[in-house]
Amino acid sequence: VSVYKGKDIALFGLGRTGISAAKALIAGGARVHAWDDNEVSRERAAADGLTISDINKMDWQKFSALVLSPGVPFRYPEPHRVVKMAQMVGVPVVGDMELFAQAVAALPAHARPKIVGITGTNGKSTTTALIGHILERAGKDVRVGGNIGVGVLDLKPMTANSIYVLELSSYQLDLIDSLRCNVAVFLNVSPDHLDRHGGMAGYVAAKARIFRNQTQMDTAVVGVDDMRTQILCTRLAAENTRRVCPVSAEMALGRGVSVLDGVLSDSLSGHTDTTVSLAGARALPGQHNHQNAAAAYAACQALGLDAVEILDGINSFPGLAHRLESVGSVGKVAFVNDSKATNAQAAEQALRAYPGAFWIAGGRAKDDGIDALSPYFSSIHKAYLIGHAMADFANTLKGKVETVNCETLDVAVAAAYRDARASGVENPVVLFSPACASFDQFKDFEARGDAFKDHVHALELEQVSKV
Ligand code: ADP
Repeated sequence: VSVYKGKDIALFGLGRTGISAAKALIAGGARVHAWDDNEVSRERAAADGLTISDINKMDWQKFSALVLSPGVPFRYPEPHRVVKMAQMVGVPVVGDMELFAQAVAALPAHARPKIVGITGTNGKSTTTALIGHILERAGKDVRVGGNIGVGVLDLKPMTANSIYVLELSSYQLDLIDSLRCNVAVFLNVSPDHLDRHGGMAGYVAAKARIFRNQTQMDTAVVGVDDMRTQILCTRLAAENTRRVCPVSAEMALGRGVSVLDGVLSDSLSGHTDTTVSLAGARALPGQHNHQNAAAAYAACQALGLDAVEILDGINSFPGLAHRLESVGSVGKVAFVNDSKATNAQAAEQALRAYPGAFWIAGGRAKDDGIDALSPYFSSIHKAYLIGHAMADFANTLKGKVETVNCETLDVAVAAAYRDARASGVENPVVLFSPACASFDQFKDFEARGDAFKDHVHALELEQVSKV
């Protein structure tokens, strides 16, 4: 990033993103004054070769920008102290994604890579990975990152032929002004992180920043399965400044891409061009994933891929770990790891995708527990409860779903397997979709999902050794 060559930059927040931003700026010739309130973070950054300076005590007039980590409150619930200091002297506040965007904007038009941005409350990672996979299989030079995996400034250096596929969180979008997405995908919105955005209107407004700077050559792909994105889609279409492509997993569209009952229809040109079954896409179970598939299809089409290439990518997508991930079968019993389902909304998708499941749930519950799942209770075969939420969930499910208090995941896996095998159900599924955060018993959702897989593999070995 050489747009700040010779300039002084204040940088606050020395996590992974902050450190990579600092390094990119230094490599581009900027003088970076880096700080974090946490001493351990400062020491780690210093050990990594960065110069640590207490920006609180410096003269802010000399800074050309404040680079802020995405975890630091920018607007809500209240701007962080350093944000206020920057705003007082008129120093622009930017994030790593904005630094990337400025670097791209500084290139001559013919040398700029293409950028696909993906946002939404749910499905960002899946859709980002899916688009990356489709493009890669079609032989494109792809860089996948942002809020998923590798930070944008740590991706391989760009060329004019590269396509960046970037997952964008609402926090990152808050700090972006210059990013121009050739294709911007906005999947859905539901209440989440509202504290950081001052309510729903602020949250949607932050996410809608993904469409900034788009021109007639660019495309907005918008999921229209919730009211707020539907309104947004209508507004964008009325603006007439970009191509707008609605996508849905709930209704047929006169013009757009829909996936209904597993069949994708593309009517972007105003008449139906493609109708094809997604039955082969094993890593994308459930209606929610059909929204992701429809969005990926539309995005890749906007980039010039043909239907055959796109469907080849959708069908060969291996899926992401911990999101309705099939982890194999023991005998006839299939196991699905959905450890990423840290709230009821995510678990809802899982219960819809696997009616009749032997459901393992629990952990550290969110405030609203699993009340929102009540329409699906009747479809649960039996529930195996673990963790801090065990007693509460048992109470909510009382009289509606048969439950077993298991405390720990190993006990739950063994009990669910035993019941599923003996149940006489034709294709029984043990579904681990906890509807809870993991930190009462695990480091994070990944460690929790890995533990689930280990327990399943142990069962497998046990069965093999019995034969
Ligand atoms: P994100 O990166 O936005 O958190 P992921 O792709 O990691 O999204 O999916 C997280 C969880 O959200 C999944 O386990 C699934 O239950 C749910 N989910 C995925 N896609 C969608 C969607 N399009 N609509 C609603 N829920 C979804």
